[in-house]
Amino acid sequence: MLKLEKGHYTIGGIPVEDLCAKYDTPLYVYDTGTMESQYNLLKNSFVGTNIKIKFACKALNNINVMRFFKNIGSGLDTVSIQEVWTGIKAGFDPKDIIYTPNCVSMEEIDLAVKEGVQINIDNLSILEQFGNKYGSTVPVCLRINPHIMAGGNSNISVGHIDSKFGISIYQMRHVERVIKSEKIHVNGLHMHTGSDILDVDVFMRAADILFETTEHFPELEFIDFGSGFKVPYKSDDYYTDIKEVGEKLSKKFGEFCKSYGRELELWFEPGKFLVSQSGTFFAKVNVIKQTTATVFIGIDSGMNHLIRPMFYNSYHHITNISNPNGTQRIYTVVGYICETDTFGWDRKLAEVREGDVIAFHNAGAYGFTMASNYNSRFRPAEVMIHKGKDYLIRQRENMDDLLRNQIEIPELT
Ligand SMILES: *Cc1c(COP(=O)(O)O)cnc(C)c1O
Repeated sequence: MLKLEKGHYTIGGIPVEDLCAKYDTPLYVYDTGTMESQYNLLKNSFVGTNIKIKFACKALNNINVMRFFKNIGSGLDTVSIQEVWTGIKAGFDPKDIIYTPNCVSMEEIDLAVKEGVQINIDNLSILEQFGNKYGSTVPVCLRINPHIMAGGNSNISVGHIDSKFGISIYQMRHVERVIKSEKIHVNGLHMHTGSDILDVDVFMRAADILFETTEHFPELEFIDFGSGFKVPYKSDDYYTDIKEVGEKLSKKFGEFCKSYGRELELWFEPGKFLVSQSGTFFAKVNVIKQTTATVFIGIDSGMNHLIRPMFYNSYHHITNISNPNGTQRIYTVVGYICETDTFGWDRKLAEVREGDVIAFHNAGAYGFTMASNYNSRFRPAEVMIHKGKDYLIRQRENMDDLLRNQIEIPELT
């Protein structure tokens, strides 16, 4: 996390001006200290439960980040076979990887079975095919849709009635038929109601629905409550009170395990909560452009590197790190893409000069992983701050990377 220390901005104790000079901009910087404190905060909020955390690597998939989470005891949540393969390469025990795909082919699920990861199935058609093929030999988890509304943005809200995710709680009778006839071994139940849980009681209601559903499944070993913890993006932002979720759910889960007759594991699979605040994105100011209506700051980046503001209308706090004591002024921060890519309107920044470096806070989750080469731009470099040292963990792309998979037709050359 970005801190102001003795007139200089630092991350993990290292001056960020030095980092930007050494690695150039645009640049993603992550610090493992913040990842670890978020991991511990979540883990320690659940007292007296057998809690297992699976880092959702679609939020930040650099192999070093995945390894870091493995080393502090985390499992991995994956949504594609490619994430499974990367996780195994990172050193995760396949048993600690859960694979929760959506609308993938049976062939891809076969590949995941071959790797020995925990399979999570989210529709009846695949469940039936899976049972046909594997019977009781491969245990499965079922993704249940409790139809509880959560999530701030409609793109990331996945639990509602029109959602494509999960098997509806109203289809349990059908699920039971398939499971009985194919002798499927269901070892887990899962829900993921979407990002941005704000109302803890709504979340508890979804948990209750999941507990009721367990009556159909006598062989459970774990319940996975997904994720969706909201982190603060602004100083006055609402965010999930993790302590409150921990207290309430631990109690409820304990009571549930008693009535179920067995001590189950309680799983979570957060992405944003674990890595969002650990990441900062740096870009340089190319142009300051005064129009009749506003003052634009044009930077050496755009929606190709950080798309959340344009795609989800999300807020990222912006700081001018080059002029900590400058007078506060109002700016509109925009990218260099030939399309409207606005990072923020009417932002108060310490006076900005061309050549200054500005920082986007909370850029660890869904920043680099959603970056593209739009406008034939290189994707940025990534740096990790670990135990007071900085490491380049992904080099900036170059022309070879852009052209790597293109095949030139001789007649055209
Ligand atoms: C995206 C996703 C997550 C992580 O969500 P966050 O909001 O980043 O915590 C967890 N589980 C599943 C199945 C997901 O698709």
